[in-house]
Amino acid sequence: MSIKDNLSTIKATLPTHVTLVAVSKTKPVSDLEEAYNAGQRVFGENKIQEMTDKWEQLPKDIEWHMIGHVQRNKVKYMAPYVSLIHGVDSFKLLKEIDKQGAKCDRVIKCLLQVHIAEEDTKFGFDENELLSIFNLEEFALLKNVEVVGLMGMATFTEDENQIAREFKGLKGLFDKINASTTINLNMEILSMGMSGDYKIAIENGSTMVRIGSSIFGARNYQ
Ligand SMILES: *Cc1c(COP(=O)(O)O)cnc(C)c1O
Repeated sequence: MSIKDNLSTIKATLPTHVTLVAVSKTKPVSDLEEAYNAGQRVFGENKIQEMTDKWEQLPKDIEWHMIGHVQRNKVKYMAPYVSLIHGVDSFKLLKEIDKQGAKCDRVIKCLLQVHIAEEDTKFGFDENELLSIFNLEEFALLKNVEVVGLMGMATFTEDENQIAREFKGLKGLFDKINASTTINLNMEILSMGMSGDYKIAIENGSTMVRIGSSIFGARNYQ
């Protein structure tokens, strides 16, 4: 199957309220061009250098999403163009994004990453840490960063009930924050689901799926 065919097969299964992020990390620019020519405009990368190289080479109507772990000293390289940063996992990082956003005269949209998997290798806040950030006085002062949602990754397991439970937990937290009368936030994006689990994620409230290998084929990390 071609990239184009994969994209249309996947898109046919997505409800209209779900945004598809085509995860193109490690893939050559020619693969992204093929997806672009098939109408795809949202791409996800996990390394700032690689994303910036691709941004320079590809049409400027592409939305670039940073889905990987972000080092604070590299935020400046993507601040001029990044559309959404999915993996914000510390208040210090949020402050740095705000600072770099100010330098570019932009408001940079971010998702806060929540740790929902049982593995402790996956980054993210736990519920209490997350809620405490929203209550920081300093949080309200950030003008060049906007928290528009949450992101989470489920445990890498065959157990679909566990995956569903983890996604459901994140959806519950998302709804709780939006409904809170003390937190002044109306988040729209719940980024959850990858090639192996996006259907379960959508059933449990995802509004944005990040799909790589089912579109572009398996990655080769050599
Ligand atoms: C690589 C990656 C994906 C896509 O994974 P696939 O299994 O290839 O769909 C999604 N989200 C994050 C955070 C990733 O790093």
